[in-house]
Amino acid sequence: MSSDLDIFKRVDGANVGKLDKLSNFEVAAIFNRYAAKNLRGNDVVNGGRGNPNWIATTARLAFARLMELGVEEAERTFSDERGMGGYIESDGLYDRLMSKLGDSRADVFLREAIETAIEKIHVAHKDLFIHELIDGAVGDHYPFPPRCLHYTERILRKYLQKTCFKDVDMGDDVDIFPTEGGTAAMVYIFQELNYAHVLYPGDTVVINSSIFTPYLQIPELREYNLNIETVETKRENDWQMTDEQFEKLKDPKVKAFFAVNPTNPTARAFTPDKLEKFKEVIEANPDLVIITDDVYGTFSTNYKSIFAVAPHNTILVYSFSKLYGATGQRLGVVAMHSENVCDRIIHENSMNRRLKELDERRYSIVVPEPEKMKFIDRMVADSRAIGLYHTAGLSSPQQIMMDMFALSNIKDDGENDYVKLSRQIVDDRYHEFWNSLGIKPDESPENTRYYTLVDIYDLMKQRRGEDFSEYFRNHYNYLDFTYRLAMEFGAVLMDAKAFGAEEGNVRVSLANLEKDEYRKLAEAIVDLVEEYYQDYKQSK
Ligand SMILES: *Cc1c(COP(=O)(O)O)cnc(C)c1O
Repeated sequence: MSSDLDIFKRVDGANVGKLDKLSNFEVAAIFNRYAAKNLRGNDVVNGGRGNPNWIATTARLAFARLMELGVEEAERTFSDERGMGGYIESDGLYDRLMSKLGDSRADVFLREAIETAIEKIHVAHKDLFIHELIDGAVGDHYPFPPRCLHYTERILRKYLQKTCFKDVDMGDDVDIFPTEGGTAAMVYIFQELNYAHVLYPGDTVVINSSIFTPYLQIPELREYNLNIETVETKRENDWQMTDEQFEKLKDPKVKAFFAVNPTNPTARAFTPDKLEKFKEVIEANPDLVIITDDVYGTFSTNYKSIFAVAPHNTILVYSFSKLYGATGQRLGVVAMHSENVCDRIIHENSMNRRLKELDERRYSIVVPEPEKMKFIDRMVADSRAIGLYHTAGLSSPQQIMMDMFALSNIKDDGENDYVKLSRQIVDDRYHEFWNSLGIKPDESPENTRYYTLVDIYDLMKQRRGEDFSEYFRNHYNYLDFTYRLAMEFGAVLMDAKAFGAEEGNVRVSLANLEKDEYRKLAEAIVDLVEEYYQDYKQSK
């Protein structure tokens, strides 16, 4: 059988060298096509997709209701049966809206969400708050202020306080820029680190690896001639950074540190004691800029962000994509402390005449005193090539949708039931998968179980001994396993080498399949290991 499957001479007419160069997302897409006509005629199980297969429902219904109420309000000021309404008037709006809310699921939620906001973010003008929600949902005005709508910023702050900062109270000292998902947030950040001369060509940026592959491929990292180094976390250290790796960050030559926490693909968060190490790092290297992507934070119990321990040095990215099943909505944020290292560096740079002049030329068309323009506001201006600053910012309906997701969480004082449910779902699948493989699952609280990495070499060793595992490693291209899994069994997994993981690791997403499909996936993996074992025995 394996002779017709000697694919690394021919994959879609290409050879393995080419396949190697493709991103692992593209490779998985190719393997998915093979899986569709797999030799066993199995239903395809694609364990490569990180998109969740659940969505948050009530917050979406509430958003739809805001749109409906907005149209009713617009028709109060002007209405024509040809499908035209007027504008939304804020006078008396709160009372009118509350009197319209009934006992449908959306209305009950909206009432509770509005009351939560009024109480927890101290809304002074209820009418203006409701105006922001419904005029925002309708999308009648350019978002203003462009960086973030007024009440929305306070709601998002509360959300991040609860989900990321935990017991470290940031008060109102966090500035927020909503973006088109976490990925746009990253693009804007790296662009601005260069524009604002926080990073210079030749500066060292350390990346915590393995990491979401597209982040390793951000051209800014190479185009601006940054010196990229990685600290690679290993399975034998429970995927945590070692003390020596933390030492490396204390070197003032290191200007930025970039982490996904909890990570994709290893799915681990920093343990509390590792998190504390960032305090030492900042003490030794006070100009260090830390960029942390916390999209998976809520999937780890007792999670706390690097931002909470090093707020003045950290730029935080959060995304609503995964938890709320909202990848198509494009909802993310950048958050920075109002006193932060980037603004300090901008201020220091303004002492340098050449840099000051550059800044003045760049921003004087949008602000009177460019040297006082904050890093986060520059990011907003630069996201629209400065000239279009006044129409920058995330669309207002997207901002209001985020408000609904955020309020669905902060309305509960303790842990939110929706968050617990999402964790329960991936946890059940995780256990089904590892139990079916016959391997003891990792129960540590830092393990999010949104993804999991299987070390194929290790699995082979555990099942059939070291010699067999070595034989496989020496005789097959590392992509052979995932290829045959797709071709023969219709099971698609993502190879994790491109994420920066050690060869032999494959990533299983626990987000996108039903529980029993994880059993099937594990069974296919075990069957395939046995097939290689037969090849091995014949070779002897
Ligand atoms: C899925 C994912 C995101 C989400 O990105 P969006 O652009 O918000 O959809 C961000 N970071 C990582 C590491 C991810 O895996």
